[in-house]
Amino acid sequence: MNIGILSRGPELYSTRRLAEAAHTRGHEVRVVDYLRCYMNITSRHPKVIYAGEELNFDAVIPRIGASYTFYGGAVVRQFETMHTLTLNGSVSIIRSRDKLRSLQLLAREGIGLPVTSFAHSTKDIDGLIDIVGGAPLVVKLIEGTQGSGVVLAETRKAGESVISAFRQLDANILVQEFVKEADGEDIRALVVGGEVVASMMRKAAEGEFRSNLHRGGTALPVNLSDEECHTAIQAARVMGLDVAGVDLLRSKNGPVVMEVNSSPGLEGIEGSSGVDVADAIIAYLEKRHAEREGKRSAGQ
Ligand code: ADP
Ligand code: GLU
Repeated sequence: MNIGILSRGPELYSTRRLAEAAHTRGHEVRVVDYLRCYMNITSRHPKVIYAGEELNFDAVIPRIGASYTFYGGAVVRQFETMHTLTLNGSVSIIRSRDKLRSLQLLAREGIGLPVTSFAHSTKDIDGLIDIVGGAPLVVKLIEGTQGSGVVLAETRKAGESVISAFRQLDANILVQEFVKEADGEDIRALVVGGEVVASMMRKAAEGEFRSNLHRGGTALPVNLSDEECHTAIQAARVMGLDVAGVDLLRSKNGPVVMEVNSSPGLEGIEGSSGVDVADAIIAYLEKRHAEREGKRSAGQ
């Protein structure tokens, strides 16, 4: 296959690993900065152009940064209109970037979630706090990443102040029950093509409840229960993601999904699990490509 990786930089760990895995498996691969791609929209022959050159790939692996979802999503969509296989698709990438929408979809399908409330007006703070069962509670900026907009309020008073401060900045927030029993640990399950191929536990640094690696968390090996695997696979399926990093907390009522990531980082998880996740992703891409080719030659 001729594979394009849409990424800001060939030196980024996950991009480099995916390119290596593609090479090893005998494919041609090229890393393309999607912010430098431009497109024609009106023609009957949709094109993606990079520095004057028309791009043509059998398959594309988007690694779109959260800050560039809008433009990156449009580039992926353009490849889709050209009938290029994309892993993941533009619709599911864009959907996964909206935390509230993602939680609504997951809830509708009966997937375990932390109790969560959301409102536009600061007049409803009491109600928001009541829904999650009072303090302690977690307030999250909808647009936050890497734990930056996630605050733990130990008391109701603190919760009220944080909510009203965020709302005065006109930020969209959600309020969540604090899953205390998770004890600063969360689980990342890497789902590829409906299977959990690798997992890790992230443990928060001393005195911190957020386990993000960017916050000083440590990645450790972990074995998932059947229920945890099942939940992660379901969450990826509901989001429509072929490749997904599903973040779970171990709550007293079983696994709850915090977030589903459409460009999961490979460094922490490959390091702690010893699994070649990049190889698993390319192998799955081959399978999807072969299925497509099979359908084409069968005239479907
Ligand atoms: P981000 O997308 O910014 O990483 P998350 O929602 O994943 O934000 O939260 C960051 C971290 O904070 C999680 O990895 C988890 O360790 C902790 N955390 C988030 N929500 C809760 C919660 N409701 N209860 C307990 N810990 C939480
Ligand atoms: N973008 C990273 C991921 O989704 C975030 C890792 C982290 O901060 O824990 O894998």
